[in-house]
Amino acid sequence: MIRKYNVMIDVERCKGCGLCVSVCPKRVIELSNEHLNTKGYPPSRVIRPEECIGCTMCATICPDLVIEIEECLLEDEKTDRIEQDCSPNKA
Ligand code: SF4
Ligand code: SF4
Repeated sequence: MIRKYNVMIDVERCKGCGLCVSVCPKRVIELSNEHLNTKGYPPSRVIRPEECIGCTMCATICPDLVIEIEECLLEDEKTDRIEQDCSPNKA
């Protein structure tokens, strides 16, 4: 069984403080340098979803509870059947 994780960020509630970026051990998240949310902050975004190990440190440190980590499971490569929805950023 292959375990994957969806990192879901509510960008409109993000204040761009960067705490989640600083604690992620796998550099999955970065602050956007391309656009601001409607509050005027550069929101965090997922840039390497395949690297997430599901440690939840980003979600834990976020002062505004903006991030959710969802575990999803994939069947082994022989069956290639998806057990749960592992599409990235589906939120
Ligand atoms: S759960 Fe861990 S590895 Fe995944 S994005 Fe958050 S801090 Fe990074
Ligand atoms: S810790 Fe929360 S508020 Fe701060 S940048 Fe990350 S998601 Fe946004």
